[in-house]
Amino acid sequence: MEHCILKIALDTPLDFTFDYRWCADVPDASWPLPGQLAVVPFGRREVVGVIVAVSNTTDVAPEKLKQVLAVRTQLAPLSAAWLALCGFAADYYQRPLGEVALPGLPKNLRALTTVALDKALKKLEKRGLAHDATPNATPKLNPAQQQAADAIAMSQGFAPSLLYGVTGSGKTEVYLQAAAQILAQDKDTENAAQILILVPEINLTPQLEGNIRARFPGVMVATLHSGLAEGERLLNWLAAHAGHARIILGTRLAILASLPRLRLIIIDEEHDPSYKQQEGLRYSARDLAVWRAHQLGIPIVLGSATPALETWQHALSARYRKLELRERAVPDAVLPKVRLIDMERDRPVDGITSTLVAALRQRLERHEQSLLFLNRRGYAPVINCDACGWVSDCPRCTAFMVLHKLDRRLRCHHCGLEQRIPKSCPTCGNVDIQPMGRGTQRVEEGLQLIFPEARILRIDADSTRLKGSAQAAFDSVHRGEVDILIGTQMVAKGHDFRNLTLVGVLNPDTALFSQDYRASERLFAQLMQVAGRAGRAAQKEGGSVSEVLVQTRYAQHPLYGALMAHDYDRFATTLLQERQQASLPPFIYQALLRAEAKELAIALEFLQQAATCVEHVGIIINDPIPMTMTRVANVDRAQLLVESASRPALQNFLKAWIAELRKIKARVSWSLEVDPVDI
Ligand SMILES: [Zn+2]
Ligand SMILES: [Zn+2]
Repeated sequence: MEHCILKIALDTPLDFTFDYRWCADVPDASWPLPGQLAVVPFGRREVVGVIVAVSNTTDVAPEKLKQVLAVRTQLAPLSAAWLALCGFAADYYQRPLGEVALPGLPKNLRALTTVALDKALKKLEKRGLAHDATPNATPKLNPAQQQAADAIAMSQGFAPSLLYGVTGSGKTEVYLQAAAQILAQDKDTENAAQILILVPEINLTPQLEGNIRARFPGVMVATLHSGLAEGERLLNWLAAHAGHARIILGTRLAILASLPRLRLIIIDEEHDPSYKQQEGLRYSARDLAVWRAHQLGIPIVLGSATPALETWQHALSARYRKLELRERAVPDAVLPKVRLIDMERDRPVDGITSTLVAALRQRLERHEQSLLFLNRRGYAPVINCDACGWVSDCPRCTAFMVLHKLDRRLRCHHCGLEQRIPKSCPTCGNVDIQPMGRGTQRVEEGLQLIFPEARILRIDADSTRLKGSAQAAFDSVHRGEVDILIGTQMVAKGHDFRNLTLVGVLNPDTALFSQDYRASERLFAQLMQVAGRAGRAAQKEGGSVSEVLVQTRYAQHPLYGALMAHDYDRFATTLLQERQQASLPPFIYQALLRAEAKELAIALEFLQQAATCVEHVGIIINDPIPMTMTRVANVDRAQLLVESASRPALQNFLKAWIAELRKIKARVSWSLEVDPVDI
């Protein structure tokens, strides 16, 4: 009987790999291969793991060595390159391999029975391509777009590019035509190229998926995102794994897909915070994508009108090639004029200044659309009692309960707790309790009073809870059934509203004074993006000039100056100088240790021990502090920031540190994040 030892990665925080014995159950059985999936006993359970190596030695005592129950031979092994990608992510983010590799696979692939897998494999065989459809006409590129597309398609080896273009400059068209060139280079269907396109949120950008399918009718396009049903996700994943899917369009999780013939990676809106996973393995899909492109020796394109400062820094230092689109792609479409409304002079009524009301009225008269942007959903962020000072704070969090007037609830956006709106003050009985501040619902209510004849639509997380409702809402805007659109950041992304000539920004100032040093970078990106919704078509005869009106109390702030000039370069340069002087990323590397406990003191004490448990050189260990939102859902949270000017030094320190942290006995749950973005 033939046998060997398999080193298998499992989805557990315990160890890197586990050893199992494999025995051939029939003579001449083919041996297991690295990258295959195997079912093994683990504790009292049976689980699926990934075979990392095949060996004939083990340190495990023979009587303790357990037997592999089954190997999924019907599935081609995951490639060595894919295992290397997971290995890198595990090492970099300080997690066991299995915690990276297995959650990245579709659930149905990790199931103990192969029913779903076998069914999907059969379906995949049958799934044909719509070869008969005629492709959509390919728009002609302007010279800058053409140059960028050619540069991407013709690059050899690892070639990272920043496609830096103002909103509406036609970055998508550059992606598509570069992709078309690369797909056309490969006549050999056995070895046909695959292209991975990452977008921040697929549900908000269905136009892109439609465009891609229409442009490449003979090519299989597969989507990968968390909104897919499990069966569909498995099928799409398998299509990518088998190399049938040539274009893979996905959100951040698609970066861990198995793509055996990957030739190009495109990351649209690369600055978007949603590329960073915020729980479990807190990876940056953008950073992993750059590593993957480097490992495979292929081009990667990072596209943005407001690149992340890290990316901008790489472009300045020529590590990334900068491809620039300075003009809007639609002929005669110009960037909107940005104006500030000083709220100290023009006092708002119901949150809206008279200047903005006049501008809205003008659009209504001309049958043009307007968009009001306010990054706060609900009716009011808090209700309070003037008599005794009571405010509606969440009993479980360091946060206010937000008033949702439409469904008559107070809702905590952090822990989800809901309560009825009290009829009187719970403390003093005063019946005159008032909403303070303004959310999208309250602005909508105010607008309905000012413009009773206008068709007003609100788009935010509350109005789009039902599946498909966001899409339906955006469709009605595109069909011209909406005069004024009110929304949160959901409306800022990707949409090409051709009849929109006015964007009003209601309350952006709070981010200017946030203690999070990234807040102004994010605010600027968000404002540029939402401003970019205006004026995407050429000005109509008799139509309005496209405008962006920003209501602010800090009209002199340099951020707004740069916004008015559409000058990301200037803004980014200033910000980078500030970061350098303050020794902040990208000039320093950081990791954040978080601890959660029933009591704050326990969490802080654990962090205090953590701060002193390892010798270190070249590492700055800051003091443990409570997190800004200390309490969430009855759990207290504290954090400890460690920094180093050297990435390798930090990585080495973290490895030693984690081993010591595991030995500390404390009633806390802790987690370590490398390159944290929310501090
Ligand atoms: Zn809460
Ligand atoms: Zn009261």
